[in-house]
Amino acid sequence: MFNKILVANRGEIALRVIRAAREMGIASVAVHSTADSDAMHVRMADESVCIGPPSSQLSYLSIPAIIAACEVTGAEAIHPGYGFLSENAGFVQIIEDHGLTFIGPTAEHIRIMGDKISAKDAMKELGVPCVPGSDGGVATLEDAKRIGEEVGYPVIIKATAGGGGKGMKVAQSAKDMEKAYQTARAEGKSNFGNDEVYIEKYLTTPRHIEIQVFGDGKGQAVHLGERDCSLQRRHQKVFEEAPGPTITAEERARIGKVCADAMANINYIGAGTIEFLYEKGEFYFIEMNTRLQVEHPVTEAIFGVDLVREQIRVAEGLPMSFTQDDLKINGHAIEVRINAEKLPNFAPCPGKITQYHAPGGLGVRMDSALYDGYKIPPYYDSLIGKLIVHGRDRPEALARLNRALGELIVDGVDTTVPLFHALLQEKDIQTGGYNIHWLEHWLETNFGNA
Ligand code: ADP
Repeated sequence: MFNKILVANRGEIALRVIRAAREMGIASVAVHSTADSDAMHVRMADESVCIGPPSSQLSYLSIPAIIAACEVTGAEAIHPGYGFLSENAGFVQIIEDHGLTFIGPTAEHIRIMGDKISAKDAMKELGVPCVPGSDGGVATLEDAKRIGEEVGYPVIIKATAGGGGKGMKVAQSAKDMEKAYQTARAEGKSNFGNDEVYIEKYLTTPRHIEIQVFGDGKGQAVHLGERDCSLQRRHQKVFEEAPGPTITAEERARIGKVCADAMANINYIGAGTIEFLYEKGEFYFIEMNTRLQVEHPVTEAIFGVDLVREQIRVAEGLPMSFTQDDLKINGHAIEVRINAEKLPNFAPCPGKITQYHAPGGLGVRMDSALYDGYKIPPYYDSLIGKLIVHGRDRPEALARLNRALGELIVDGVDTTVPLFHALLQEKDIQTGGYNIHWLEHWLETNFGNA
């Protein structure tokens, strides 16, 4: 059993990990930049270490500073949360070289899945259905044009190292190809230091359905159903639900088994998410995230499990605490991402929180690091909270979300709360009749932007 773990993250996800550790009787160490000295994760952890100045490059992404913090405090394992170093294979290697434990998958699995081309190759090999497209990287514009014709327009050009919606460009027809190809390469180069791109058929009305998987690293793996994360702005999720409103029990069992078997096959350890686009009853793999996702609480709500606790258990070499047969879906859960952003343009809106009140009551979970008087620093992402509701069915979850949003008070900064109030009035949201393009169209029509 670990005695002490270090959380290499900030904000709500750092609290999430500290809470799980505390329930397991494990002490926690927070790390923070000078801009986060007053942050809630620092207050809530058992110990804290300042690891650098505000810039994430020099603090939350500084591997030497994080390793040193482990040595100073005697932490035996590191939980990376999501973002920052969570999918950095080099970090995992260094942690292991120092005799520490990374709470997450192996460096090798992170490396394979972090490159979208090798991820697709690996998944194809494991029998997971993929989006039709180029066989690996596309080295020249001439090749891109030829593949565009072969696959059939529209196509999407994607940076193999891409993430967070960056490095993806759609070509509607051959005449868009040159610009889309060059832009995707340039974005890959400037954001990820890698200009390799590949091409996929661009699906026009898919839903984003992702399967939560979990493995013990010893050949046992399960799936925890799907999340529908189709409501996106600029390829970024804003509203997530489980189970998916359009997915049948048969479809879930079929794709879930494909994913769990694939993970068992490679001895995957810890939590992972296999993302698909879903159109006309077919699933097409797009990428795998080898970490805990922002939206993991909706899965926790319907299965009644603690995924972080489970991550810590398997990192210690313990078996998973559930089998596939134990995992039964109970009700419906929805998460909305509360960002400090000003509508209609979603401009980041850091500043001082003058008043904060979290909603409560049956089936309501608020994961947030806010408190009265907290100053949101301008250096990090704008997610300030996640409101998760759970009901016996989807209509109950929607009614509960409406009620909980009404109770939430965040004064002093603008937030995305009004967006969710407006969305809940929409028939398509009430019926679940949306796809990955729905929100962008809605924003164009209602806010004059996208
Ligand atoms: P990232 O790593 O940047 O999150 P993903 O590959 O996961 O990129 O894709 C993010 C989103 O982009 C998807 O949820 C979907 O909305 C859109 N997308 C990606 N691939 C395709 C495709 N082949 N056709 C249509 N939309 C796509």
